Amino acid sequence: MKIADILRQNKVVISFEMFPPKKWEGLEKTKQTARRMAALGPDFMSVTYGAGGGASDFTVSVAEEIGRQGIPALAHLTCVSAGRGKIDEVIGQLQEKKIENILALRGDLPADGDFVLPENFSHATDLIAYIKSKGDFCIGAACYPTGHPEAASMEADLEYLRRKQELGADFLTSQLFYDNRLFYEFRDRARGAGITVPILAGIMPITTASQIERTIELSSTAVPEHFRRMLERYQGNTESMRQAGILYAVSQIADLLANGQNDIHIYAMNKPDVVMDIMALLRPLIL
Ligand code: FAD
Repeated sequence: MKIADILRQNKVVISFEMFPPKKWEGLEKTKQTARRMAALGPDFMSVTYGAGGGASDFTVSVAEEIGRQGIPALAHLTCVSAGRGKIDEVIGQLQEKKIENILALRGDLPADGDFVLPENFSHATDLIAYIKSKGDFCIGAACYPTGHPEAASMEADLEYLRRKQELGADFLTSQLFYDNRLFYEFRDRARGAGITVPILAGIMPITTASQIERTIELSSTAVPEHFRRMLERYQGNTESMRQAGILYAVSQIADLLANGQNDIHIYAMNKPDVVMDIMALLRPLIL
């Protein structure tokens, strides 16, 4: 099923994101994780493609496993680490496995700096246009509540976002954030800039002390003072940190739902137990 059709249904939509294994040996365990997460009944699940500039040979396999569980799958695809050949190969595999949804991304530029982007694929906009020309896919793209770190300005970032929509993006998923006000401001500005496609709000529960620095550094998100104080208070105790992280994520989602934001994407990070606890608290709030 196409995600655009799910988002059109005028109901609360909850999606989970997971990542593929780095090596073949990890594939069965990751598929098992996918099955456990799918059993929680999300509206769709997404699978990332590499990270830090890397490709992934297993995104399609994990997405296929999600589809087998009766949950629509969204396969991420980045163009930073792939030439046209690799992009064609992945698109062909997705068509063969009947996976209809692709999140089209540029990808993070590799940290070693000395890097040339593949010809014709400098930005997500190029990939969106290319996917559109290759078949009947539902295409998603990324957006950033405080602007992408490389953007010259918020206005410029919104202009490129509008371009993504123009070229065929059917929906947007936001970078994670911990201050809902930033998301509301962004949503208003995006609507003002003519972006009309659905925007999923990205929520990443922080449940371990080791996640804190890495998550915040990778996403360049702002950390509100009340959230920082919570992390400081509980990070020394494993169970307290887990519980506090779950409660914070649920309270963020409750506030989003109360403010008319029905489309929620949970960066579930291959932690079915965490998402299970979040969903148990969330279900009574989905009216
Ligand atoms: P772009 O849209 O290309 O934007 C990058 C920068 O270029 C921005 O500053 C933008 O304003 C500017 N820009 C955009 N279009 C143009 C244009 N046509 N001309 C000039 N400038 C332009 N990374 C992975 O490696 N794998 C994943 O699976 C993955 N999944 C993600 C999922 C979500 C929901 C999000 C929010 C991010 C994800 N990322 C992933 C990270 C993402 O790849 C990085 O944030 C990357 O730096 C930018 O990707 P993008 O698609 O937003 O790039």
